[in-house]
Amino acid sequence: MCGDRQQTLAAPAVLSGVGLHSGRPARMTLHPAPVHSGIVFRRTDVHGRAVRAALDAVTDTEGRVVLGGHRGVQTVEHLLSAAWALGLDNCVAELDGPEVPGLDGSALPIVSALRAAGLRPQAAPRRTVAIRAPVWVRDGEAWAAALPAAAFSAAYVVTLAPPGPGDQAATYDPRRDAYEETIAPARTWGYERDAAALRARGLALGASLENTLVVGGAGFVNAPRFPNEAPRHKLLDLLGDLALLGCDVLGAVIVVRGGHRLHVALARAIEAQGG
Ligand SMILES: [Zn+2]
Repeated sequence: MCGDRQQTLAAPAVLSGVGLHSGRPARMTLHPAPVHSGIVFRRTDVHGRAVRAALDAVTDTEGRVVLGGHRGVQTVEHLLSAAWALGLDNCVAELDGPEVPGLDGSALPIVSALRAAGLRPQAAPRRTVAIRAPVWVRDGEAWAAALPAAAFSAAYVVTLAPPGPGDQAATYDPRRDAYEETIAPARTWGYERDAAALRARGLALGASLENTLVVGGAGFVNAPRFPNEAPRHKLLDLLGDLALLGCDVLGAVIVVRGGHRLHVALARAIEAQGG
């Protein structure tokens, strides 16, 4: 969402850590890549299998986004969010495990690594999809819309059921808000009461009070970084899921009580509208 030309990394960047869901360690190296190649994940532990970040590569959206099935890569959304917000279009993310490192549960360490490596403009224009007419999707009480607008912006509402603080909202307008200050630091969050069921399904195995904001029986178990950290993190996830379109979005996006499944449905509806 920065400038008109595609960008890649000026130098490689390395991130290591345990996956939020698999609990497995991985070392991820981000390499520069040619124009129009997009963000490509390559598993070095399963014979160089590669999958490009795109909507048709999504194979699971429960609690995180999985690309390329069980031999693909899971929890790609925080890397894709940081890449989209900073305007990194093309890179190869090589990793030796099944999941992008969870780090501190936010996108801040990723932003720092991308900034340290630097971004290099390339000799090709970036593609943009303009929302021409309202696009809606819903899933029970959750809904999402993309509306025509002169620039991209996003707003998010979550309901943190009691003893959580109730309805909370966050907004992001890149013309006004610095992603790395207002969105990137917001961590993954969840309910303490859901932890056992998630772990039984092989999810949240790498989650801890260091990388996850936990809503427990008496409110937040650990201190939030922002009073509305939860909807800010939802915006972080939303940007990562919209990044699967592979282009900038010219429109105003509103999501209420959503998650990855709804975000991906909205992105598919935007793609179907064209533009
Ligand atoms: Zn997330």
